Amino acid sequence: MTKYVYLFEEADGKNKQLFGGKGANLAEMTRIGLPIPPGFIITTEACLEYYANGKKLPTTLMTQVRDKIKELEKKTGKLFGDPDNPLLVSVRSGAAMSMPGMMDTILNLGINDRVVDRLTRANGNGRFVYDAYRRLIQLFGKVAMGLDDSYFDVILGEAKKKVGAKFDTDLQVQTLEEICGDFKRAIKKELGREFPQDPWTQIEIAIEAVFRSWMGKRAIDYRREFKITTDMANGTAVNVCTMVFGNMGNDSATGVAFTRDPGTGANVFFGEYLVNAQGEDVVAGIRTPKPVLHMKRQMPKQYKELEQVRHILEKHYHEVQDFEFTIERGTLYILQTRNGKMNAAARVKTSREMVRENLLTKEEALLRISPEHLEQLLHRRIDQNTRVKPLAQGLPASPGAAHGKVVFDADQAERRGMLGESVILVREETKPEDIHGFFRAKAILTSRGGKTSHAAVVARGMGKPCVVGCEAIEIDDRNKVAIVDKHHILEGDVVTIDGATGYIYLGEVPTVEPEFSPDLKTILRWADEIRTLGVRANADTPKDAAMARKLGAEGIGLCRTERMFNAADRLPIVREMILADTTQERQQAVDKLLPMQKSDFKKIFNKMQGLPVTIRLLDPPLHEFLPSVESLVWEIERLKEVKKSLEQMETIPDSFKVLLEPSLQELVPPVAHVLKELSAIREKELFDELVEKKEEILRKVRETAEVNPMLGHRGVRLGIKHPEIYKMQIQAILEAAAELIKDGVDIQPEIMVPQVCTSQELKQVHKWMDEIRGIVEKKYDICVLFRFGTMIEVVRACMRAGPLAEVTDFFSFGTNDLTQATFSFSREDAEKKFLPLYNEMQILMDNPFEILDIKGVGRLMKITIDYGKKTNPKLKVGICGEHGGNPRSIEFCHTLGLDYVSCSPYRAPVARLTAAQAKLREMARDKADLENPDYPFNVFFQDLG
Ligand code: PEP
Ligand code: MG
Repeated sequence: MTKYVYLFEEADGKNKQLFGGKGANLAEMTRIGLPIPPGFIITTEACLEYYANGKKLPTTLMTQVRDKIKELEKKTGKLFGDPDNPLLVSVRSGAAMSMPGMMDTILNLGINDRVVDRLTRANGNGRFVYDAYRRLIQLFGKVAMGLDDSYFDVILGEAKKKVGAKFDTDLQVQTLEEICGDFKRAIKKELGREFPQDPWTQIEIAIEAVFRSWMGKRAIDYRREFKITTDMANGTAVNVCTMVFGNMGNDSATGVAFTRDPGTGANVFFGEYLVNAQGEDVVAGIRTPKPVLHMKRQMPKQYKELEQVRHILEKHYHEVQDFEFTIERGTLYILQTRNGKMNAAARVKTSREMVRENLLTKEEALLRISPEHLEQLLHRRIDQNTRVKPLAQGLPASPGAAHGKVVFDADQAERRGMLGESVILVREETKPEDIHGFFRAKAILTSRGGKTSHAAVVARGMGKPCVVGCEAIEIDDRNKVAIVDKHHILEGDVVTIDGATGYIYLGEVPTVEPEFSPDLKTILRWADEIRTLGVRANADTPKDAAMARKLGAEGIGLCRTERMFNAADRLPIVREMILADTTQERQQAVDKLLPMQKSDFKKIFNKMQGLPVTIRLLDPPLHEFLPSVESLVWEIERLKEVKKSLEQMETIPDSFKVLLEPSLQELVPPVAHVLKELSAIREKELFDELVEKKEEILRKVRETAEVNPMLGHRGVRLGIKHPEIYKMQIQAILEAAAELIKDGVDIQPEIMVPQVCTSQELKQVHKWMDEIRGIVEKKYDICVLFRFGTMIEVVRACMRAGPLAEVTDFFSFGTNDLTQATFSFSREDAEKKFLPLYNEMQILMDNPFEILDIKGVGRLMKITIDYGKKTNPKLKVGICGEHGGNPRSIEFCHTLGLDYVSCSPYRAPVARLTAAQAKLREMARDKADLENPDYPFNVFFQDLG
């Protein structure tokens, strides 16, 4: 016979899978001698059996329950269903993972009409007894029998009105007795069934109700939202516990306490209690609870006992505990405990302090801080104490909160930002040419695009708050207005955006500073001591490089040179280069760019002294640097219209003359004067020239336009077609390096080629590099050492990794493009059109552009590394796609044996922590066995063979 029911003292307090979190902790607390009311646990196995049997309780279950109830009767000296001395119990759910409020609980089981009657007469406290009874009927009626709460609320409300009672506590015994009667009648009338009087029937129905609540909508939604899988929690246990009452007079109380302050992490006893009350009353807020420290005076004996419990719990669990207690007629009982939920700052503080107090090892401390916690600490946040209703919600693309005046174009953002104004750049979507606006904006908001849209990627890279795809906002940038519902937001209006939640607020909402406390620095130092995976940053400017270094990055894994091309002073020259008709003209533009790039590189190398800097040669298709066809057509039409209007205006004085109106005649000379000036402008043929120029640009833009630009003329393909661009960049890098080496600066340059699919491409670039290196070394009379590598972002490159590794020192996985290539999904289109549906239908579990697709892209990475290392065992391998900053993907990269991840500078601390956690989990796995279900990538590796 399977044993489904265990007394608290029989159960294994470590086995949360079988006994649920609450049950296991009750068992554990009983074992270590804490005052727990007697009780037992029905296992999760019984719950699974219930579902396997087509929702029928296992046949032996109720017999086992009866046996255990007998044991409770022995321990308490009370009898279940006995009218003179009844044993009352609570029935609570409890799965392996805490799912607060998602499943059902029933209190006071065991009361019926006879019990209530005899008890009232016996102890004279009828109010207490009837109050317990009406709570039972209501909870049981709702949870176990399925009658809507509103029936009970109406009866209770009317009864209160009738006697003029404000709170439930104002109700006297007679009214409570009437309420119990009305509750029972409502159940009979609405459900056609009686409220069961037999306590054994009550308990059986209650157990079934708890099992049923496991598959209730609330619980299923919760599990989906928090990604609780069946390996984490499968079925719920049921905890049956002797009732204890905190509402039996002034020597009774109930409360909730934390072993430390969950708001600050300070090592002080924290909690609240109410004298003569039940747990429900604390939640309902009928009376204001007192801080637990007040108990010191009011109930000194019990306070001392509670203090002891506090220390015992922390010492036992090595974790801050959140526990519930009740004092019944002077006796303290602990009803449950669980790990305390704390805000990020408190978690960091307690981690450090608990190591100091020898409650935790450094390793344990590192594992109890989640990457999400860390992220909360690194950005400005909306002050949690403010209660402002958001105006709309988009996708949270880059965390942090900021307020500022709305501007609708990048030029305005730059202009007003330079004047010191706080501005939020609001656009339908952004393009590379908006980059100067990003630099000056405090935050970015778009009404279109997903979390990997241009706005999202660039903002994350810069660590600026960003909300994208906020479709509730209609943006009319020509008329400079954004409309949400009835609100018209004009240029200059203030909004606040929260990139962590995606909320948009009207006006300024208070925010709080990020906290990079000494505690956090210590924790990150411990992480650095443990991790073996390197952490670099993606940084394109000296400012980003400095930030990367400050946040602990050990180099730059990706410097995108196109970001420099987009700077306001470069773009006209870049356009000159693209639009040049002859090689000579193109060379002239390139020559102008050379010193600019050289100076950029020098600044970045300088900031990163002693650390590697990977500079990627130009990647995007050239049209990204040109204005769009639509905007050019629009401008040309406007220019032509203005010219035409000017011509028409010249006839105005003649028209005035023929009208013979004296008042008009007076106007002829001044109007003629103005028109003469205008005519002079027209005669200069400025408009014609401009139109011609714009039309020429339009022709070129149309020429460079591609059907699929991201699969078209970009990356190394562009470099090979226009060698002068790559040659200039290589020269700029090597000259910058040579000049710094001459100055004694310790630098480690790395040149990286994007979009490579065959080693022939790399060999071509390598040949130019050798030529230029020869020239530079001769010019500076110095030897320039650097590494040469390639991005791996094309599927063919993965398959040809062997030959590629022969000509390179390193590979860097560009998993943004590699994911697109592997799935044949265009990122933007997928996120806009079908990915959310795919996730909802669980066709794909995650967005592969956020969380690395281990089964597909991960497998390609593994193959690439294996092939690459075969021909070049010294090959260094990193990742510089967005996934390099995603915790789950970082853990995978560690497992694959990558040398480093490269992510936005602001994610570097998260990557440092995650890399350490990955190492710790790996060590735990090696110590245990390969089958450890907690190890996330076992299946992947087994699958690979
Ligand atoms: C990538 O493809 O992962 C990458 C880093 O390059 P980009 O995002 O610039 O295309
Ligand atoms: Mg790429």
